[in-house]
Amino acid sequence: MGMGGARNGLRRTMGYEGSLDEEYMRLALREAALALAEDEVPAGAAILRNGEVLALAHNQVRATGNPTAHGEMLAIAAAAARTGDWRLNGCTLYSTKEPCPMCAGACVMARLDRVVYGIADPAMGCLGGGPCALSQIPQFNHRFSVRGGVLAGDCLALLRDFFLAKRKKNRSRPPDSKELHKASFLAIDRGAKIIFL
Ligand SMILES: [Zn+2]
Repeated sequence: MGMGGARNGLRRTMGYEGSLDEEYMRLALREAALALAEDEVPAGAAILRNGEVLALAHNQVRATGNPTAHGEMLAIAAAAARTGDWRLNGCTLYSTKEPCPMCAGACVMARLDRVVYGIADPAMGCLGGGPCALSQIPQFNHRFSVRGGVLAGDCLALLRDFFLAKRKKNRSRPPDSKELHKASFLAIDRGAKIIFL
């Protein structure tokens, strides 16, 4: 087999992994839909190891009044509890939104192998789509690979539905600065419309 064959083999492998990423991101999307139904910001997470689902979770900040109750944090805690090991070696975290500083930091501390996210967050994302990439800090004792943009359109649609519904409730007044920030965040994604203007 020549170089061409090797390249084709690689491409097949990557295609297979890519389609698995989409399949597993749908699990995280299902969690995000649950969050939306609970009037939480719709973000969901799933952790898998060798095709086995170790944890599913979604954002519960509003219900718990706990600012650390992001889907990724809850999924990491659940996966560690389930495996009986806080080191999540060999695990991949799927998150509908790029993890924030707290969750990206937790991915380092849990020694995840890989993180796959849907929509990038230019404001708060800390895995390369925003201000920094905590997955690749040379001084840290753990680094991991990241893939973004998987099913980004579906992940964005849930967020858009959420903020659109919030906006409809308050249609009588002009958007405040926080909403305008959210609108600009959503508008950055390809194909997204500025929903508040
Ligand atoms: Zn977070």
